[in-house]
Amino acid sequence: MTTDDAGRSVPATTIDFGAAPIAFAPALPLSGSPEVELGPPGEPVSGKVLIFGSGPAGLTAAIYAARANLEPIVLGGSTPGGQLMITSDVENYPGFPDGIQGPELMASFRAQAERFGSRIVDVDVERIDFSSRPFRAWARGVEYRGDAVIVATGASALWLGLESETRLRGQGVSACATCDGFFFRDKEIAVVGGGDTALEEALFLTRFATRVHLLHRRDMLRGSKIMVDRALAHPKIELHLNTSVDEVLGERHVEGLRLRRTDTGSQEELPLDGLFIAIGYKPNTDLFRDVLDVDGMGYLTVRDETNSRIEGVFIAGDVHDHRYRQAITAAGEGCKAAIDAERWLEVNAQRPAASALAAQG
Ligand code: NAP
Repeated sequence: MTTDDAGRSVPATTIDFGAAPIAFAPALPLSGSPEVELGPPGEPVSGKVLIFGSGPAGLTAAIYAARANLEPIVLGGSTPGGQLMITSDVENYPGFPDGIQGPELMASFRAQAERFGSRIVDVDVERIDFSSRPFRAWARGVEYRGDAVIVATGASALWLGLESETRLRGQGVSACATCDGFFFRDKEIAVVGGGDTALEEALFLTRFATRVHLLHRRDMLRGSKIMVDRALAHPKIELHLNTSVDEVLGERHVEGLRLRRTDTGSQEELPLDGLFIAIGYKPNTDLFRDVLDVDGMGYLTVRDETNSRIEGVFIAGDVHDHRYRQAITAAGEGCKAAIDAERWLEVNAQRPAASALAAQG
């Protein structure tokens, strides 16, 4: 078992999407690479649409843009695929009555985008310039240009912020049950969080662990009823309400947790072998927050469905959506953004470059 940049234990291949590196199943049939042949070396690479991000929003935008002859270039991150790459069973994506594994679903999205000519490059964008058209982005020494842009960089997992959590990442601390659950066969583990992610992770981990302690800081779970009912009914899941983690115990690997009752303040130690953090996400907006509007939680804000404050720059998916945050809603927004970009380009493609700037105020 190796460790990725975020400290998660990685069985084989490591991928990096935006701010938070994630690990994915080794047999993932993704086909792109940073070496994709895009044009003469040293020359800027141009398409009508540049898409940032390769989760459900970015790849759906690519499918629609490619079918509209917009020659999309997808800058997908060096860890492509988005959050579904660290999701196990996806049971609510329409069209899959028996469910589908997240990585398998994303490989299908990608194959479909490539089938219509999308150029997908697995690189992290280092710099952007949206001050004039064509819009520009730079990654690994290559300049990419697009007459329109779709930002679909998604969101990344949050951590508790404990020193011991950071130190023991990859040594029993993880934010990815799909990646690391396998290593906890016949072990006792804990999951922190009270939302659907925590419930899903806890349920998934029952496949391996002897016991899964679900630790939530409040007196009530916030996940959906069906997931709460399923978790509470599971014989391997033990719910600890009003409980927070003060420290992860162990020098070289996780040996236990120091827990604190949030109602009484009392502390206790719980011996176990692994800790999965499932407390929500942070939007991947670092590149954009100086040029696009962000809300109080750091998510990009949209105007009139997918528009941003800059004409010709569109926004889709979890990078702005902290309300629904579903693969299906992200995909729907990717579709909308591509259609909006197409219509905008029809009217504006010939306009002088300077007029691209902030025309919407
Ligand atoms: P969430 O709903 O925001 O829940 C995050 C949980 O983590 C909350 O219970 C929160 O506690 C807790 N938390 C946050 N910071 C914490 C900290 N520092 N220490 C301890 N606990 C902390 O996030 P989510 O579970 O990732 O879900 C996000 C969205 O995705 C939701 O809309 C959810 O329905 C959706 N989702 C759906 C599925 C599915 O349908 N299969 C799967 C996963 C996610 P408080 O409750 O006290 O705030």
